[in-house]
Amino acid sequence: MHKLKVYPDNGCYEINCDYKNPALCKINGVIHAYCCICKTYIGNEYDTDWNSLIRREYCSVCREKVRTEQNMLRQKKFRKKNKQEKKLLRNQNAILKEENRLLREMVVALRDDVDKLKHMN
Ligand SMILES: [Zn+2]
Repeated sequence: MHKLKVYPDNGCYEINCDYKNPALCKINGVIHAYCCICKTYIGNEYDTDWNSLIRREYCSVCREKVRTEQNMLRQKKFRKKNKQEKKLLRNQNAILKEENRLLREMVVALRDDVDKLKHMN
């Protein structure tokens, strides 16, 4: 349910609208849409295509801003995930290097043992 809102060109009206789009409001029985951010008038059920009216939450300017912000957020998330994956790979690489070093030491020690056994015979 929407609360009472004040629109510059309409004054104050009780708003009673069941649609989930917060840009929509019912004024004197007619459904109108106002941008959720800047309150710019988008249109009403008579002058705008119904399906487009009930979906639009923003005017074209704010829609572009929201889209850009969402893209930036997505890119930020993507970069963060990439960074975490790189860190994980670096850690795995360090562990594998250490394991490799220890195994090489074991090979050298085993070779020494084999040499000793050969000399014993
Ligand atoms: Zn706007």
